[in-house]
Amino acid sequence: MSANTYKDSNNTPRLVVLGGGESGVGAAILAKAKGMDVFLSDAGTLAPHYADELRRRGIPFEEGGHTPALILNATEVVKSPGIPPTAPMVAEIAAKGIPVISEIEFGGRYTTSRMICITGSNGKTTTTMLIHHILRSAGIDASLAGNVGRSLAWQVAEEPHDVYVVELSSFQLENMYDFRANIAVMMNITPDHMDRYEYKMENYVRAKFRILQNQQTSDAFIYWEDDPVIRRQLEQVVTEARRFPFAEYEEAGAAAFLDADGRMVLRTPAGEFDIPRDDLALKGLHNLFNSMAAGLSACLMDVRKDDIRRALCDFEGVPHRLENAGTVNGVRWINDSKATNVNSCWYALESMPDNRSTVLILGGKDKGNDYSEILPLVRRKVKAIVAMGKDNAKILDYFGKEAPGIPVADTHSLDSAVEACRAAASGGDTVLLSPCCASFDLFKSYEDRGDRFKAAVKALTEK
Ligand code: ADP
Repeated sequence: MSANTYKDSNNTPRLVVLGGGESGVGAAILAKAKGMDVFLSDAGTLAPHYADELRRRGIPFEEGGHTPALILNATEVVKSPGIPPTAPMVAEIAAKGIPVISEIEFGGRYTTSRMICITGSNGKTTTTMLIHHILRSAGIDASLAGNVGRSLAWQVAEEPHDVYVVELSSFQLENMYDFRANIAVMMNITPDHMDRYEYKMENYVRAKFRILQNQQTSDAFIYWEDDPVIRRQLEQVVTEARRFPFAEYEEAGAAAFLDADGRMVLRTPAGEFDIPRDDLALKGLHNLFNSMAAGLSACLMDVRKDDIRRALCDFEGVPHRLENAGTVNGVRWINDSKATNVNSCWYALESMPDNRSTVLILGGKDKGNDYSEILPLVRRKVKAIVAMGKDNAKILDYFGKEAPGIPVADTHSLDSAVEACRAAASGGDTVLLSPCCASFDLFKSYEDRGDRFKAAVKALTEK
């Protein structure tokens, strides 16, 4: 413990939590349950139900600003992943030498349950939910944590489970030190959140690879073999974990792949089995990878083959990920609002037909996008682009220059975007909301954007 650390006269550690969302409130509840002196501070306003949860347990908190005197006497600080390390309060805490950890790191200290942890730039939530679905259908007491569901710390404090399936963003991983993943899954690494990583890819990659730290020989590392970034980084990192790479086609050492007959093969020490690709519930190449990663995780948890097979085939999917929003006058509307970066849009476009029948809605809050990645697919598949954002200049400019044959509409609200799509699409076409951008310029969240999109499509059917 550093010289600055504070303990009151009873030697009780003081845990300060920055941020009063799901993870922060969960951490405060666990700290209280462990007898710590706990205080939560949020620069904004807490959702009323979270404030109630804290009050009910007698946990002191403040909102609307941070009081340094109540924070800088902490033994340790749990920081919500949404607060950047450059925030002035965080910088002050760091300058004082007070350790800053994430809620997952904190929760992990108080449980010996098995941890299956999923990270990557895209596919985390889908894979997390799919693993959870397989384990639950096989009768295992598994629960979701991390970016989805109840926070880990909260569950550890009040409703513990045998297994946690934890979705880990790079932001959470940044403040993890001793946490150990029994199974670590890395889907892929493509540029995302570059604004938060000083536009340096290596900083982002390094954060993601923290998922491997502390893994032991009995643990497993599942990853996408064909990802050049993962491959390169693996040459530099040392891990004791057993490796289970997945790839589109069979390669030496691949633990999951597609065979010549179109069957997904899973090969682990538990044995080998296969499932026809067409039977998998999730369609598209990206989802094949998600099914491979989830299937391997389940094999390593000793789930019976029949249970894995059944669950991979009856999974109902996750909202806002290539979700069917309805068909109106022969036009298919697809909600892929969760595509908040260019790579996820690439996969969405990849699953569209080749005949330039897609009307693509792009735009929102740009996180440093390089649209050249999707340009070939746009040229091949897209008949019109509808830019939907507060400021569409970058999209209008880029596609205006690089894809001059494709009209780009400039809209600044969901209603006008939907109207522009309706005008551009005819029977047999697909309207795809896969915006490559965060939603915060016009919407509360990507869920809000997707829900309002679906509602607008529903309204069209009723017209
Ligand atoms: P995350 O939680 O990592 O953001 P999601 O499962 O929510 O990932 O999917 C986000 C978007 O990324 C989806 O809309 C889909 O188009 C795309 N996607 C899903 N899985 C993958 C994958 N394995 N590789 C690339 N893109 C993917």
